Amino acid sequence: MNPEILLRSPAFSDPFLVVGMAGVALMLGYIATQWWAATRRYAFEAQRSRLELAALGKKIDVLNLKAQAAPEVAWNGYRKFTVAKKVEECNDTFSYYLSPHNGRPLPSFKPGQYLTFEVQPPGAPKAQIRCYSLSDGALSDDHYRVTIKRYMKEDGTPGVVSNYFADHVSEGDLLNVKAPSGKFYLDVEVDRPVVLISGGIGITPMLAMARVLTHINDKREIYFFFGCRSGVDHMFRDEVIELQKKNPNMRLHICYSRPDEGDVKGQDYNHHSRVTVDLMKEVLPSSNFEYYLCGPGPFMDSLVSGLYEWGVPKKDVKFEAFGPATVKSGAKDATPKAAADTPAFEIEFSRSGKKVAWDPSSANLHAFAEKNGIPIDFSCGAGSCGSCLVAVKKGNVEYDLEPGHEVDEGSCLTCISRPCSNMVIDA
Ligand SMILES: Cc1cc2nc3c(=O)[nH]c(=O)nc-3n(C[C@H](O)[C@H](O)[C@H](O)COP(=O)(O)OP(=O)(O)OC[C@H]3O[C@@H](n4cnc5c(N)ncnc54)[C@H](O)[C@@H]3O)c2cc1C
Repeated sequence: MNPEILLRSPAFSDPFLVVGMAGVALMLGYIATQWWAATRRYAFEAQRSRLELAALGKKIDVLNLKAQAAPEVAWNGYRKFTVAKKVEECNDTFSYYLSPHNGRPLPSFKPGQYLTFEVQPPGAPKAQIRCYSLSDGALSDDHYRVTIKRYMKEDGTPGVVSNYFADHVSEGDLLNVKAPSGKFYLDVEVDRPVVLISGGIGITPMLAMARVLTHINDKREIYFFFGCRSGVDHMFRDEVIELQKKNPNMRLHICYSRPDEGDVKGQDYNHHSRVTVDLMKEVLPSSNFEYYLCGPGPFMDSLVSGLYEWGVPKKDVKFEAFGPATVKSGAKDATPKAAADTPAFEIEFSRSGKKVAWDPSSANLHAFAEKNGIPIDFSCGAGSCGSCLVAVKKGNVEYDLEPGHEVDEGSCLTCISRPCSNMVIDA
């Protein structure tokens, strides 16, 4: 309607009526504003309650995880486990679902920790000890899962234990297993966004971390980088995609260095490249994350040093070494020192009755003992399995890597340590 006609209508010639209508309009406006404010307040309160409930839920889940980890259900030494299920994850890689033989509940573990196995492969001169990371989250108290890839040495000979598992260990077999341990784990109570980076079988601890964060409905941002050669080596593809569907805060970046013809970019993988720090600079909003890494030696060396160069503080870069060849750049100073830079320490091996001057070109005490014909047990070469632990009667050592295995007062892990004084060692 034309506003002039409206203003000339009889209703608007009555001043009382005009004031009344204005009053009604003001009243309606006031009611609408109050209603709008109340709706917003209600929405805000509802959102706050939802967040508080989620935080409470997470606290309860974390407490449950801790309760499961109560010391009364942990164990010392080796415990018997039955292989309940063996599943092929991809080419030459199998998962083993392990149930406690006595059927008692299992302690939980921190995502990133590993189990230590003692096995006796046919033809091996003695029992072999190896560590394998838990690849599940800490979600069940009736089984653990580890995933083992066949290892082939550079000379083409098969690794003893990983090939024994692949060829000889089957469902129903019994295994000797030590309780979960290791200091490389994600602390779920520290609320920082994380970047999980893995290459090949190094995915196992990362998968456990991603699974636990998803299980407890943690809201932190997760960037999950995984690198392998092609689809044939792409382990846990479906499991990781399922996790991503459940966890909207997880972003996946799958890198194939040499995709096969049948591998489809955008479907099977995201990047035709290795996992590199340049890729991270491209896809991460900043470098301000906690980084967890595990993979083959060269992969770890380039990523760890690349992250440091990018300005990521050392305390935010955490990694697991799967063997002696891994993470030279991460070690405090793994390069053997020049003789001139090192005091001439004397090392006495008390049981063998030998006194020898420390050779600074030795990578560690274990290598030094071996060079001098003194046998010390050895397995992982990464300070994780505890095989090379010896009693120290006198003197001190420094470590290249943080030991994953517990080191009691008066002992040392020879595979990752070097002397920093004269020493008397019980070997
Ligand atoms: C904490 C931790 C967690 C681990 N988690 C997993 C996991 O989840 N999954 C997995 O598959 N593996 C994992 N590993 C690695 C695993 O423990 C074994 O090292 C791996 O399975 C190889 O063992 P093997 O007995 O088959 O090989 P071995 O017979 O022990 O041979 C491998 C060893 O030989 C050495 N070597 C390599 N090349 C040569 C050569 N040319 N000549 C002589 N020696 C050589 C290497 O230094 C290596 O120590 C983990 C290791 C650690 C320390």
